[in-house]
Amino acid sequence: IRRIGVLTSGGDAPGMNACIRSVVLTAAAHQIEVIGFSHGYNGLIEGDYTKLLPYHVQHIIQLGGTILKSARCPALQTEEGAKAAAATLRQLQLDALLVIGGDGSFKGALAIAQHYKGQILGLPGTIDNDVDGTDATIGYATAIDTALDAIDKIRDTADAFERIFLVELMGRHSGFIALSAGIASGAEQIICPEFGTLEPGQLDTVIRPIQNAQVLKGKSSYIIVMAEHCYPGGSTTLAADITDAIGIECRACVLGHIQRGGSPVGADRILATKLGAYAVEQLLGGAHLMMAGEVNHQAGLYPLQASGERKKRIDPYLLRWQQQVAND
Ligand code: ATP
Repeated sequence: IRRIGVLTSGGDAPGMNACIRSVVLTAAAHQIEVIGFSHGYNGLIEGDYTKLLPYHVQHIIQLGGTILKSARCPALQTEEGAKAAAATLRQLQLDALLVIGGDGSFKGALAIAQHYKGQILGLPGTIDNDVDGTDATIGYATAIDTALDAIDKIRDTADAFERIFLVELMGRHSGFIALSAGIASGAEQIICPEFGTLEPGQLDTVIRPIQNAQVLKGKSSYIIVMAEHCYPGGSTTLAADITDAIGIECRACVLGHIQRGGSPVGADRILATKLGAYAVEQLLGGAHLMMAGEVNHQAGLYPLQASGERKKRIDPYLLRWQQQVAND
């Protein structure tokens, strides 16, 4: 292997830079050249790239976002797009491509592989943690801490004003961030897909605990942490429906993109460094169409094809504890 490409795709995640750095440094140690593509797969299709040398990745380990920029690339979902991406890889004589992104990005990688003979490996970079084959994705730990910081602040104002707050967190279609940040912030209630769907007009499970808490425990504030996509119309609609049902104002707060930003926490920097290095070493060993992940602190390979099968279960112990003990 003499030359490889790297790109970041899909939603950006804290730690992507740490991963790029690790790839570049490890490749340099093996005399492998690295080409970085800009704006995800768009850079690959449009030939927008730059050679990455170790000095380019100095002092980026602490930076959020991605120096390569990230993007969605609808063009890759067509055969012509996949062919154009593969053509760039061939033209630049790249022996391999590393894709840092979520399971959508890995589907894109599989599409390119139909037209490209080189090796392709994925690295799990997304705050959502919804990728199989790794205990945590790069960015997940930071997103929890960012959400936690915000919820702690909301708690202060909620306490002062004796209010009910509904805090909506990201997570795509999984509750990893909501459950973790909800538990760590001591939220009175957590709503996430793993607890089942919530329908308008059937809000008993949400409302009863609020009423009990108000009446029996005299709480001065009540925080509900909710994963996105859990209620038609989102948290704003749910907050209005709760307000109507109990006659006490419930305020919605959507954290949104704040959760994607910020300097990566130590755990994300370390995971990104480990997996970036591991992926380059595995390329040298001939790995292809696999994702580099970490399970039980052990780096390993997982089929790229299976990374989006949603086999990874949210922690059943914490889920049960929240449902039986803490959702009060
Ligand atoms: P995150 O979940 O953190 O946003 P992701 O990688 O899952 O990350 P997506 O928006 O799902 O994000 O996918 C990123 C890109 O991957 C898409 O813009 C597209 O270029 C490519 N992609 C996704 N699905 C496919 C597919 N089925 N075929 C080809 N390319 C795809």
